[in-house]
Amino acid sequence: MSLEYRYLGQTGLLVSRLCFGSLTVAPMQANLSVQDGGQLIEAAFALGVNFLDTAESYDNYGHIRWALERGWSKRVHIATKSYAVTAEQMQRSLERALRELGRDYIDIFLLHEQESSLTLRGHAAALEYLARAKERGLVRAVGISTHHVAAVRAGALHPLVDVIHPLINREGWGIVDGTAADMYEAIKFAASLGKGLYGMKALAGGHLYRDPHAAFQYVLAMPELTAVAVGMQNEAELTANLLHFTNQPVPPQLAAKLARQERRLSIADWCEGCGSCVSACPSNALRIENERAVVDVSRCVFCGYCSRACPNFCLKVV
Ligand code: SF4
Ligand code: SF4
Repeated sequence: MSLEYRYLGQTGLLVSRLCFGSLTVAPMQANLSVQDGGQLIEAAFALGVNFLDTAESYDNYGHIRWALERGWSKRVHIATKSYAVTAEQMQRSLERALRELGRDYIDIFLLHEQESSLTLRGHAAALEYLARAKERGLVRAVGISTHHVAAVRAGALHPLVDVIHPLINREGWGIVDGTAADMYEAIKFAASLGKGLYGMKALAGGHLYRDPHAAFQYVLAMPELTAVAVGMQNEAELTANLLHFTNQPVPPQLAAKLARQERRLSIADWCEGCGSCVSACPSNALRIENERAVVDVSRCVFCGYCSRACPNFCLKVV
Protein backbone atom coordinates (compact mmCIF):
# COMPACT_ATOMS: atom_id res chain seq x y z
CA MET A 1 0.00 0.00 0.00
CA SER A 2 1.43 3.38 -0.88
CA LEU A 3 1.23 6.72 0.86
CA GLU A 4 -1.71 8.97 0.16
CA TYR A 5 -1.26 12.46 -1.32
CA ARG A 6 -3.69 15.37 -0.93
CA TYR A 7 -3.85 19.02 -1.93
CA LEU A 8 -3.07 21.39 0.94
CA GLY A 9 -6.02 23.80 1.01
CA GLN A 10 -5.86 26.16 -1.94
CA THR A 11 -2.06 26.26 -2.16
CA GLY A 12 -1.85 23.89 -5.15
CA LEU A 13 0.73 21.83 -3.21
CA LEU A 14 0.13 18.07 -3.44
CA VAL A 15 1.65 16.64 -0.27
CA SER A 16 1.99 13.19 1.30
CA ARG A 17 -0.20 12.72 4.36
CA LEU A 18 2.93 11.75 6.26
CA CYS A 19 5.03 14.89 6.70
CA PHE A 20 8.58 14.48 8.00
CA GLY A 21 8.79 16.47 11.24
CA SER A 22 12.48 17.31 11.29
CA LEU A 23 12.92 18.80 14.78
CA THR A 24 13.90 15.30 15.90
CA VAL A 25 17.14 15.22 13.86
CA ALA A 26 18.14 18.74 14.98
CA PRO A 27 20.72 19.78 17.59
CA MET A 28 18.04 20.34 20.25
CA GLN A 29 16.83 16.74 19.93
CA ALA A 30 18.75 13.73 18.53
CA ASN A 31 21.56 16.02 17.30
CA LEU A 32 22.30 13.79 14.31
CA SER A 33 25.24 14.74 12.12
CA VAL A 34 24.34 16.52 8.88
CA GLN A 35 25.04 13.31 6.97
CA ASP A 36 23.10 10.98 9.31
CA GLY A 37 20.11 13.35 9.46
CA GLY A 38 20.33 13.96 5.72
CA GLN A 39 20.38 10.22 5.00
CA LEU A 40 17.27 9.65 7.11
CA ILE A 41 15.46 12.49 5.34
CA GLU A 42 16.56 11.17 1.96
CA ALA A 43 15.34 7.68 2.91
CA ALA A 44 11.92 9.17 3.71
CA PHE A 45 11.85 11.01 0.36
CA ALA A 46 12.78 7.79 -1.46
CA LEU A 47 9.87 6.02 0.28
CA GLY A 48 7.35 8.60 -0.93
CA VAL A 49 7.31 11.28 1.79
CA ASN A 50 7.32 14.52 -0.22
CA PHE A 51 6.58 16.97 2.60
CA LEU A 52 8.99 18.10 5.33
CA ASP A 53 8.45 20.51 8.20
CA THR A 54 11.28 22.50 9.75
CA ALA A 55 11.88 25.89 11.39
CA GLU A 56 14.68 28.42 11.53
CA SER A 57 15.07 27.71 15.24
CA TYR A 58 15.61 23.97 14.64
CA ASP A 59 18.97 24.81 13.09
CA ASN A 60 18.80 21.85 10.69
CA TYR A 61 18.71 23.43 7.22
CA GLY A 62 22.07 21.75 6.53
CA HIS A 63 20.60 18.28 7.17
CA ILE A 64 17.71 19.00 4.81
CA ARG A 65 19.98 20.45 2.15
CA TRP A 66 22.10 17.30 2.29
CA ALA A 67 19.01 15.33 1.21
CA LEU A 68 17.67 17.92 -1.24
CA GLU A 69 20.98 17.99 -3.11
CA ARG A 70 20.61 14.31 -3.92
CA GLY A 71 18.00 15.02 -6.57
CA TRP A 72 14.98 15.82 -4.38
CA SER A 73 14.90 19.62 -4.41
CA LYS A 74 12.19 19.99 -7.06
CA ARG A 75 10.24 16.89 -6.00
CA VAL A 76 9.45 17.67 -2.37
CA HIS A 77 7.77 20.48 -0.43
CA ILE A 78 9.46 22.23 2.49
CA ALA A 79 7.65 24.17 5.21
CA THR A 80 9.66 26.36 7.56
CA LYS A 81 8.90 28.89 10.30
CA SER A 82 10.31 32.01 11.86
CA TYR A 83 9.76 34.03 15.02
CA ALA A 84 10.28 37.26 13.02
CA VAL A 85 8.16 40.22 14.06
CA THR A 86 9.32 42.93 11.68
CA ALA A 87 9.65 42.92 7.90
CA GLU A 88 13.44 43.20 8.23
CA GLN A 89 13.62 40.19 10.53
CA MET A 90 11.43 38.17 8.17
CA GLN A 91 13.56 39.19 5.20
CA ARG A 92 16.61 37.85 7.06
CA SER A 93 14.74 34.63 7.90
CA LEU A 94 13.64 34.08 4.33
CA GLU A 95 17.09 34.86 2.91
CA ARG A 96 18.66 32.46 5.40
CA ALA A 97 16.23 29.68 4.49
CA LEU A 98 16.81 30.15 0.76
CA ARG A 99 20.57 30.31 1.17
CA GLU A 100 20.99 27.42 3.62
CA LEU A 101 18.48 25.12 1.92
CA GLY A 102 19.99 25.96 -1.48
CA ARG A 103 16.62 26.72 -3.05
CA ASP A 104 15.16 29.67 -4.95
CA TYR A 105 11.78 29.37 -3.24
CA ILE A 106 10.24 28.03 -0.01
CA ASP A 107 6.97 26.14 -0.38
CA ILE A 108 5.42 27.18 2.94
CA PHE A 109 6.64 29.89 5.32
CA LEU A 110 4.92 30.09 8.70
CA LEU A 111 4.94 32.48 11.63
CA HIS A 112 6.15 30.24 14.45
CA GLU A 113 4.15 29.69 17.64
CA GLN A 114 1.20 32.06 17.22
CA GLU A 115 -1.23 32.34 20.12
CA SER A 116 -4.19 34.50 19.08
CA SER A 117 -5.39 37.37 16.88
CA LEU A 118 -3.28 39.63 19.13
CA THR A 119 0.01 37.86 18.36
CA LEU A 120 -0.96 37.76 14.69
CA ARG A 121 -1.47 41.51 14.80
CA GLY A 122 1.89 41.89 16.52
CA HIS A 123 3.53 39.99 13.64
CA ALA A 124 1.61 41.85 10.92
CA ALA A 125 4.73 43.36 9.31
CA ALA A 126 6.41 39.94 9.05
CA LEU A 127 3.26 38.39 7.61
CA GLU A 128 2.90 41.18 5.05
CA TYR A 129 6.53 40.70 4.07
CA LEU A 130 5.80 37.02 3.41
CA ALA A 131 2.73 37.92 1.34
CA ARG A 132 4.91 40.19 -0.84
CA ALA A 133 7.53 37.43 -1.10
CA LYS A 134 4.76 35.16 -2.33
CA GLU A 135 3.91 37.64 -5.09
CA ARG A 136 7.60 37.57 -6.10
CA GLY A 137 7.60 33.76 -6.24
CA LEU A 138 9.99 33.34 -3.30
CA VAL A 139 7.33 31.70 -1.15
CA ARG A 140 4.40 29.60 -2.36
CA ALA A 141 2.17 29.71 0.71
CA VAL A 142 2.10 31.63 3.97
CA GLY A 143 0.70 30.73 7.38
CA ILE A 144 1.09 30.07 11.08
CA SER A 145 1.98 27.26 13.48
CA THR A 146 0.32 27.08 16.87
CA HIS A 147 -0.55 25.15 20.03
CA HIS A 148 -3.59 27.44 20.58
CA VAL A 149 -7.21 27.01 19.49
CA ALA A 150 -7.58 30.80 19.43
CA ALA A 151 -4.76 31.13 16.90
CA VAL A 152 -6.32 28.55 14.56
CA ARG A 153 -9.53 30.58 14.63
CA ALA A 154 -7.62 33.85 14.09
CA GLY A 155 -5.62 32.34 11.22
CA ALA A 156 -8.82 31.04 9.67
CA LEU A 157 -10.15 34.59 9.44
CA HIS A 158 -6.90 36.20 8.25
CA PRO A 159 -6.83 36.90 4.51
CA LEU A 160 -3.03 36.47 4.22
CA VAL A 161 -2.96 33.05 5.90
CA ASP A 162 -3.04 30.10 3.48
CA VAL A 163 -1.84 27.34 5.82
CA ILE A 164 -2.30 26.54 9.52
CA HIS A 165 -0.15 24.00 11.38
CA PRO A 166 -1.96 23.21 14.66
CA LEU A 167 -1.12 20.88 17.53
CA ILE A 168 -3.73 18.12 17.77
CA ASN A 169 -3.82 14.70 19.42
CA ARG A 170 -6.51 12.49 20.91
CA GLU A 171 -5.75 13.48 24.50
CA GLY A 172 -5.48 17.20 23.76
CA TRP A 173 -1.97 17.10 25.26
CA GLY A 174 -0.18 20.41 24.73
CA ILE A 175 -3.22 22.37 23.54
CA VAL A 176 -2.90 25.49 25.63
CA ASP A 177 -6.44 26.88 25.62
CA GLY A 178 -8.86 24.02 25.12
CA THR A 179 -9.52 20.35 24.54
CA ALA A 180 -8.90 18.15 21.53
CA ALA A 181 -12.57 18.63 20.61
CA ASP A 182 -12.17 22.43 20.77
CA MET A 183 -9.13 22.24 18.52
CA TYR A 184 -10.92 19.99 16.05
CA GLU A 185 -13.83 22.45 15.86
CA ALA A 186 -11.34 25.23 15.07
CA ILE A 187 -9.65 23.04 12.45
CA LYS A 188 -13.00 22.37 10.78
CA PHE A 189 -13.78 26.09 10.84
CA ALA A 190 -10.45 26.94 9.20
CA ALA A 191 -10.88 24.22 6.58
CA SER A 192 -14.37 25.49 5.75
CA LEU A 193 -12.77 28.83 4.89
CA GLY A 194 -10.33 27.17 2.48
CA LYS A 195 -7.23 27.10 4.69
CA GLY A 196 -4.76 24.24 4.27
CA LEU A 197 -4.10 22.41 7.53
CA TYR A 198 -1.43 19.94 8.61
CA GLY A 199 -1.23 18.77 12.20
CA MET A 200 1.61 18.23 14.65
CA LYS A 201 2.18 16.24 17.85
CA ALA A 202 -0.24 13.42 17.05
CA LEU A 203 1.77 11.29 19.50
CA ALA A 204 2.00 14.18 21.98
CA GLY A 205 5.78 14.09 21.70
CA GLY A 206 5.81 10.36 22.55
CA HIS A 207 3.27 10.20 25.39
CA LEU A 208 0.87 8.31 23.14
CA TYR A 209 3.47 5.76 22.00
CA ARG A 210 1.73 3.01 23.99
CA ASP A 211 -0.98 2.97 21.34
CA PRO A 212 0.40 4.81 18.31
CA HIS A 213 -2.10 3.18 15.97
CA ALA A 214 -5.05 4.74 17.83
CA ALA A 215 -3.20 8.06 18.09
CA PHE A 216 -2.59 8.20 14.33
CA GLN A 217 -6.06 6.94 13.45
CA TYR A 218 -7.53 9.82 15.47
CA VAL A 219 -5.81 12.49 13.36
CA LEU A 220 -5.90 10.62 10.05
CA ALA A 221 -9.67 10.31 10.36
CA MET A 222 -9.92 14.12 10.16
CA PRO A 223 -10.43 14.92 6.46
CA GLU A 224 -9.64 18.57 7.20
CA LEU A 225 -6.04 17.65 8.05
CA THR A 226 -4.26 17.27 4.73
CA ALA A 227 -1.15 15.93 6.43
CA VAL A 228 0.37 15.27 9.83
CA ALA A 229 3.97 16.10 10.71
CA VAL A 230 5.59 13.29 12.67
CA GLY A 231 9.02 13.58 14.21
CA MET A 232 11.42 10.75 13.40
CA GLN A 233 15.04 10.29 14.32
CA ASN A 234 15.88 6.80 13.04
CA GLU A 235 14.94 4.24 10.40
CA ALA A 236 12.79 2.24 12.84
CA GLU A 237 10.55 5.25 13.44
CA LEU A 238 10.39 5.98 9.70
CA THR A 239 9.39 2.37 8.95
CA ALA A 240 6.71 2.32 11.66
CA ASN A 241 5.26 5.67 10.60
CA LEU A 242 5.01 4.56 6.98
CA LEU A 243 3.13 1.45 8.14
CA HIS A 244 0.76 3.52 10.29
CA PHE A 245 0.08 5.96 7.45
CA THR A 246 -0.63 3.17 5.00
CA ASN A 247 -2.87 1.37 7.51
CA GLN A 248 -0.63 -1.67 7.82
CA PRO A 249 0.26 -3.48 11.05
CA VAL A 250 3.57 -2.68 12.71
CA PRO A 251 5.43 -5.93 13.54
CA PRO A 252 5.31 -6.54 17.32
CA GLN A 253 9.11 -6.50 17.65
CA LEU A 254 9.36 -3.08 16.02
CA ALA A 255 6.44 -1.73 18.08
CA ALA A 256 8.08 -2.97 21.30
CA LYS A 257 11.41 -1.40 20.34
CA LEU A 258 9.75 1.98 19.71
CA ALA A 259 7.71 1.81 22.90
CA ARG A 260 10.99 1.53 24.84
CA GLN A 261 12.34 4.65 23.15
CA GLU A 262 10.55 7.14 25.39
CA ARG A 263 11.71 10.74 25.07
CA ARG A 264 12.55 13.01 27.98
CA LEU A 265 13.63 16.56 28.59
CA SER A 266 17.18 16.66 29.89
CA ILE A 267 18.09 19.60 32.15
CA ALA A 268 21.84 20.09 32.55
CA ASP A 269 23.54 20.39 35.94
CA TRP A 270 24.67 23.90 35.16
CA CYS A 271 21.08 25.29 35.19
CA GLU A 272 21.13 28.53 37.18
CA GLY A 273 17.39 28.71 37.82
CA CYS A 274 16.96 31.97 35.89
CA GLY A 275 13.38 31.02 34.89
CA SER A 276 13.57 32.04 31.21
CA CYS A 277 12.47 28.56 30.17
CA VAL A 278 9.44 28.62 32.48
CA SER A 279 7.79 31.47 30.63
CA ALA A 280 8.77 30.01 27.24
CA CYS A 281 6.89 26.74 27.84
CA PRO A 282 3.40 26.86 26.32
CA SER A 283 2.36 23.77 28.29
CA ASN A 284 3.26 25.12 31.75
CA ALA A 285 5.43 22.07 32.22
CA LEU A 286 8.39 23.84 33.86
CA ARG A 287 8.88 25.35 37.29
CA ILE A 288 11.82 26.48 39.40
CA GLU A 289 12.57 24.48 42.54
CA ASN A 290 15.67 24.94 44.69
CA GLU A 291 17.07 27.32 42.06
CA ARG A 292 16.83 24.76 39.27
CA ALA A 293 14.38 24.12 36.47
CA VAL A 294 12.18 21.07 37.01
CA VAL A 295 9.91 19.51 34.38
CA ASP A 296 6.47 18.00 34.92
CA VAL A 297 6.75 15.09 32.50
CA SER A 298 3.00 14.61 32.37
CA ARG A 299 2.64 18.02 30.72
CA CYS A 300 5.73 18.15 28.48
CA VAL A 301 5.13 17.50 24.76
CA PHE A 302 8.84 17.75 23.86
CA CYS A 303 8.34 20.69 21.53
CA GLY A 304 11.78 22.11 22.38
CA TYR A 305 10.50 25.69 22.74
CA CYS A 306 12.14 26.00 26.17
CA SER A 307 15.48 24.97 24.73
CA ARG A 308 15.88 28.12 22.67
CA ALA A 309 14.97 30.27 25.67
CA CYS A 310 17.83 28.98 27.83
CA PRO A 311 20.88 31.26 27.79
CA ASN A 312 23.03 28.39 29.06
CA PHE A 313 21.99 25.63 26.62
CA CYS A 314 20.76 23.44 29.48
CA LEU A 315 17.66 21.97 27.86
CA LYS A 316 17.49 19.21 25.34
CA VAL A 317 14.92 16.62 24.32
CA VAL A 318 16.72 13.24 24.30
S1 SF4 B 1 16.50 28.93 31.16
FE1 SF4 B 1 18.17 27.45 31.42
S2 SF4 B 1 19.37 28.26 33.14
FE2 SF4 B 1 17.39 29.30 33.16
S3 SF4 B 1 16.13 28.05 34.56
FE3 SF4 B 1 15.73 27.30 32.49
S4 SF4 B 1 17.18 25.60 32.22
FE4 SF4 B 1 17.90 26.79 33.97
S1 SF4 C 1 9.09 21.78 28.89
FE1 SF4 C 1 10.05 22.47 26.98
S2 SF4 C 1 9.85 20.73 25.58
FE2 SF4 C 1 8.39 20.41 27.28
S3 SF4 C 1 6.43 21.31 26.56
FE3 SF4 C 1 7.55 22.90 27.72
S4 SF4 C 1 8.66 24.04 26.14
FE4 SF4 C 1 8.05 22.09 25.21
